[in-house]
Amino acid sequence: MENPTPDAPRGSGPGPEQALEETMSTAIGEDFDADRWRARFRLDGKVAVVTGASSGLGVAIALGMAAAGADVAIGARRVDRLQETRKAVERLGRRCIAVPTDVTVIEDCTRLVESAVNEFGRVDILVNNAGIGGEYHQATEDPPEHFRHVVDVNLFGSYWMAQAAGRVMQPGSAVVNISSVLAVTTAKVPAAGYSAAKAGILGLTRDLAAQWGRKGIRVNAIMPGVFPTEATAHYSPNYKRKLIDARIPLGRIGDPEEIASTAVFLASDAAAYITGVAVAVDGGVLLL
Ligand code: NDP
Repeated sequence: MENPTPDAPRGSGPGPEQALEETMSTAIGEDFDADRWRARFRLDGKVAVVTGASSGLGVAIALGMAAAGADVAIGARRVDRLQETRKAVERLGRRCIAVPTDVTVIEDCTRLVESAVNEFGRVDILVNNAGIGGEYHQATEDPPEHFRHVVDVNLFGSYWMAQAAGRVMQPGSAVVNISSVLAVTTAKVPAAGYSAAKAGILGLTRDLAAQWGRKGIRVNAIMPGVFPTEATAHYSPNYKRKLIDARIPLGRIGDPEEIASTAVFLASDAAAYITGVAVAVDGGVLLL
């Protein structure tokens, strides 16, 4: 290690041994506060920025954040579809702004975060969900522009968004990056750019988690398995059946709300001691 381990933060609180002693001596259930416990799983008073919320998992994530109590700023390129998500969030009783955003454009990323701050006063949560699957090209035939574009949207876009959010986030904030099981396994179809970008997101997650831990900003990733969205709409029923039989121990495709609930958990104080990890939400794909 080139850098020495930084000193523990100096404060007026108990030292580690005293804190441990207090933890150990607490009688079970004595100071358990059920309301405080339930509040850990809520996002009341928080502001979430969700990219790629014009379709698929991003819509479910935006609605999940709102149902848990957060106001939401959403970004994507298809403005009409974003407005539909905005109305759905508002039907849940939360505030929402829809900001036209191409995550490959740094200024767009900055504007999405600034719009959230201008409208709601803060950003507590960023969900980097915008992504594209790309085309299937054998590596020897893969057009350079295709590879570059897939990495540009999936990986670079996540970093530009994280940079913009990291500049304004306060302690207690959280970033959730949407990676893929293809970061750590293969689909047996050629997807070099996508796999590389999604694996890159795991590296990004670890590095930002380490950089920002002392700032009180947590950074985690979700690795979805297979979910019914526009990105997978071209899968034939036969292919899906084979996929389920061969690769998914739970025996079914996922429900987008299962990604949303994981994102809400990772963004919430219920996950306050979790940072730098990648959670597979995949029905067991990675077991096989
Ligand atoms: P969709 O195609 O339904 O959604 C993708 C979203 O990303 C859309 O809202 C799209 O909005 C947005 N997007 C694409 N390019 C850009 C861009 N340049 N700037 C801003 N937004 C962009 O697919 P999913 O919901 O399935 O995908 C969501 C995430 O989940 C992606 O990161 C994907 O890789 C990941 N994932 C999905 C899996 C699945 O099985 N569905 C499995 C593993 C991971 P617009 O076109 O309006 O810009």
